[in-house]
Amino acid sequence: MKLFFDETQLAHQPKQYMVSGRIVDPFENPDRATTLINALTKLGLVRTQPADFGIEPILRVHADHYVEFIQEAYDRFMELPNHGPEVLPNIHPYRGAGDDFAPRGKPRPTGILGRAGWYIAGLSCAMMEGTARAAYASAQMAVAGAEVVLAGERAAFSLCRPPGHHAYVDQASGFCFFNNAAIAAEVLRRHFHRVAIVDFDTHHGDGTQAIFYTRDDVFYGSVHTDPSAYFPHFAGYADETGSGAGEGANHNLPLAPGAGDEAFIDANQRLALAVQAHGAEALVVSAGWDAHKDDPLSQLTVTTDAYARIGEVWGKLGLPTLIVQEGGYSLTAVAQAAPAFMEAFRSVSVE
Ligand SMILES: [Zn+2]
Repeated sequence: MKLFFDETQLAHQPKQYMVSGRIVDPFENPDRATTLINALTKLGLVRTQPADFGIEPILRVHADHYVEFIQEAYDRFMELPNHGPEVLPNIHPYRGAGDDFAPRGKPRPTGILGRAGWYIAGLSCAMMEGTARAAYASAQMAVAGAEVVLAGERAAFSLCRPPGHHAYVDQASGFCFFNNAAIAAEVLRRHFHRVAIVDFDTHHGDGTQAIFYTRDDVFYGSVHTDPSAYFPHFAGYADETGSGAGEGANHNLPLAPGAGDEAFIDANQRLALAVQAHGAEALVVSAGWDAHKDDPLSQLTVTTDAYARIGEVWGKLGLPTLIVQEGGYSLTAVAQAAPAFMEAFRSVSVE
């Protein structure tokens, strides 16, 4: 199985992240990627550097004016007098302003502070000199993985970093700039009529949900921590089931803080049944390892063994599958959970 990764993804090394009113070192750091490469190549996954598929697959998901912002933000921010070391937003539009004077779409401010507040949801998306090219490279790994699955490989692993599932059509959020899983799903849609994205990162993939919320050709399902007092706070509730043509093609399974292996495995099994019922022909797995009990962000008590169990669940579906890296912030937990999942996934899959 191929493992897609490009050194350019390490160029994103921000220094600031706000947790509960304190600026700290970001949990999302380049060591995560090197840890995963070591753990997964030991299993026999073959590290592969893909070709550049260009900007078009990113523009299939993201608004062109947002992509432009990501590409220009750092340089523009550095032109501010007395600027800090990284792009961070400190003002946001009023959400109730409606379409009369603050329509979604392109922002009215031309200044970089107004634009940063428009396009970046919070203080977990600091942008430094290498951020735009790392996010672009990360998205390319998703495209490359989807392309080999389209070409007939049973499965592939896209080591996307920075991650993607909190990124909206036109907004960065939660360490995410481009929605890698959504970009991969759109590539798979070239051949497969119905694609499912399943997400067992401990945070709900609010960006992915929003991107496909009104569509039934891309199912989104997630097992995550109850968002009522946990990131991403504003989405991820069980009553969000899709709308319009997408009604029934969105499936959220929030777990209460403290939930352990059995609840986590059971929710993944129920999600697999929903994917089958939807008639998906191909699968994108948004794989985060941050539900692990040793993760600094986890409120669940999931063990390494549970990742092996859900590896079987998703492998047994027997669908062409792309695994896309999302979160996971304890290097020790990541080094155990990812290989446990992949080993089990492969043991029940026909390669
Ligand atoms: Zn997460």
